[in-house]
Amino acid sequence: MSDYSSSIGIVGGGIAGLIAGCTLQEQGIKTVVFERSKSLNTDGAGISISPNGLRVLEKLKLKDHFKKTSYAPNNIVFHQNNREISNILSPNKFITSSRHNLLQHLYQKYIELGGEFLFGHEYKSLNQQELKVTFTNKKEYEVSHILACDGINSSIRDEFFPFSGSAIYSGYQAWRGIGKAKQSDAKFHFGKGKHIVSYPINNKGEVSFTAVVRNSSNTDGSWRIKGSKKELLNDFAEFDEDVFSMLNSSDEIFKWGIYVRPVLSSIYIKNITLLGDAAHPMVPFLGQGGCMALEDGYAFGMLVGAYSKDFSKTQAKYEKIRLKRKNMVQASSKTQGKIYHLDNPIVIFFRNFFLKYLPIVQMRMEKIWSYKIDEEIKNT
Ligand SMILES: Cc1cc2nc3c(=O)[nH]c(=O)nc-3n(C[C@H](O)[C@H](O)[C@H](O)COP(=O)(O)OP(=O)(O)OC[C@H]3O[C@@H](n4cnc5c(N)ncnc54)[C@H](O)[C@@H]3O)c2cc1C
Repeated sequence: MSDYSSSIGIVGGGIAGLIAGCTLQEQGIKTVVFERSKSLNTDGAGISISPNGLRVLEKLKLKDHFKKTSYAPNNIVFHQNNREISNILSPNKFITSSRHNLLQHLYQKYIELGGEFLFGHEYKSLNQQELKVTFTNKKEYEVSHILACDGINSSIRDEFFPFSGSAIYSGYQAWRGIGKAKQSDAKFHFGKGKHIVSYPINNKGEVSFTAVVRNSSNTDGSWRIKGSKKELLNDFAEFDEDVFSMLNSSDEIFKWGIYVRPVLSSIYIKNITLLGDAAHPMVPFLGQGGCMALEDGYAFGMLVGAYSKDFSKTQAKYEKIRLKRKNMVQASSKTQGKIYHLDNPIVIFFRNFFLKYLPIVQMRMEKIWSYKIDEEIKNT
């Protein structure tokens, strides 16, 4: 057994795990990340980080580097099928990139800060009292606290949070890929019961798209499989040539079943704290799951420093700060999904009318985007 009893053990090296690691390391608190994969995730998908998440990257001096290798759209343009309905000016407010690029920046920072990252460590079991964690590679470590950052299918959540409920298919399937297009805006295209969101991820003409369709059964029963272009283009046949050529130019397309889990009433127990998707997975219609993971990791890390490693006090305050916020964003994301996937023509008419003439979208987004996690930590 390896003695890491002065380090916090972080299970899962995704967004939540890495940002928690960076925040803790920056305050001189030792951490070790256990990641099951053999290398950083390279799935061909984009991610948009809104101002609330960017504030966290700025605090860790990561934002400028991330921005240089990413893109910052000036406009968000909404279309009904192929016709423009409204255009929201949003200069430089959010950054769009590939998930891999974001993870690389977080990983490099974490290593620079002296963090230890162990690939090929898939969680197997945990002795909660003695804080000994074992992996399928038969290695065992003693740590000072466990951060469960192992995503929506969190084994730690399953094992230690009795009423956590298993993942449930949300009724939506998402096609994701990275294509080529001359595009400078973030674009939404609505169809009947489906929508496509696309945005540039860098200055090299690469555009990420997520094409979502409501489908009562996830026929493949899987989380993520390689999809066929033919099937994708069939599903979105009503959209125009530009959208088509961008979808068609993608080398690889993946089809994801979108899953959710029941809301938890508490996100910690003795010695274990849940972060990111392990704590609160949400449907992706406000692009907030990764941003919540950033806020969680930063909040937990700062609180451990503020309470001089008193984990009981840290956990209580972390939950107080995070639960209310996450429940609100989770519920708003669900509502947004319904708004995007309308199929009644009269209701669609009213949605488009409101989008065009009333600033409701901006108001909804501002409520989430204007959140300042550092002020919340100070003031709560
Ligand atoms: C279609 C779609 C579009 C999205 N778009 C956006 C967006 O634009 N903006 C945004 O903010 N969010 C977006 N999200 C949500 C975002 O991707 C997630 O919320 C985010 O990745 C959660 O980060 P995480 O670190 O909690 O979990 P994950 O990213 O899932 O990372 C978990 C890590 O834990 C590792 N792991 C899992 N099990 C084990 C184990 N047993 N042992 C060791 N390691 C393990 C995994 O390999 C992985 O590295 C989107 C999601 C979807 C599905």
